Amino acid sequence: MQEEKNVIISVKNLSKNYSTLAVLKDINLEVRKGEVIAIIGPSGSGKSTMLRCMNALETISGGEIYYKGEPISTRKKYTKLREEVGMVFQHFNLFSHMTVLENVMYAPVKVKKRNKGTVYMEAMDILEVVGLAEKKDVYPEMLSGGQKQRVAIARALAMQPEVLLFDEPTSALDPEMVGEVLSVMKNLAKTGMTMLVVTHEMGFAREVADRVVFMDEGYIMEEGSPEDIFEHTQNDRVKAFLSKML
Ligand code: ADP
Ligand code: MG
Repeated sequence: MQEEKNVIISVKNLSKNYSTLAVLKDINLEVRKGEVIAIIGPSGSGKSTMLRCMNALETISGGEIYYKGEPISTRKKYTKLREEVGMVFQHFNLFSHMTVLENVMYAPVKVKKRNKGTVYMEAMDILEVVGLAEKKDVYPEMLSGGQKQRVAIARALAMQPEVLLFDEPTSALDPEMVGEVLSVMKNLAKTGMTMLVVTHEMGFAREVADRVVFMDEGYIMEEGSPEDIFEHTQNDRVKAFLSKML
């Protein structure tokens, strides 16, 4: 029972179709508070779709997703859910007409209607954490890809989320900028943030994740500790995928 209490997101028999195409098939996954889950697998296996279902950016075709015990498909509004289950995308999606600080402060002030002075102090603290305090008055076009992604993470954090979903946060970056973003994410994991991270960075998955989920053709084919997946898998699909990633 105690264990059940720690489950934040519970995915039960989830399926998702795009017309006749079955993209997710009988997905079951439990996410516990403070856990870091790496989601790996070939392109087209349904990783992004699964994440997007978790904060209702996609409707689901079957099964259910529970957030803190409550089914999300029966909610009337998704605003609150998306405040609590934040998302960081591959292509940053920053507001180009706003400065770094305005990007970070926008949603807490406009959506959550929080006090601007308080949000400012928090935003500056968060920008300090991601190493961008001195860029606060700069517009996104003046930033490198790695800096943009760190702003996107800061913006997600400013909403004080319970869970953060990352969809290939470093895939659009030049190689030399991958490290600075992974390092911010690693520090975030250490603070106890609950994180689901779709990634091709096997080193990160191995080092930072508590659990690794391997998806293939719409199924969760294997799930286990990094050691289970990277060292002891008996699954040929997992082996073939990992050998290509090295
Ligand atoms: P991954 O993130 O693992 O690469 P996706 O979740 O993006 O996989 O996609 C899984 C499958 O769903 C792919 O075959 C993709 O072409 C298909 N798909 C994704 N989004 C849509 C959409 N909006 N309409 C139709 N098919 C889609
Ligand atoms: Mg994807």
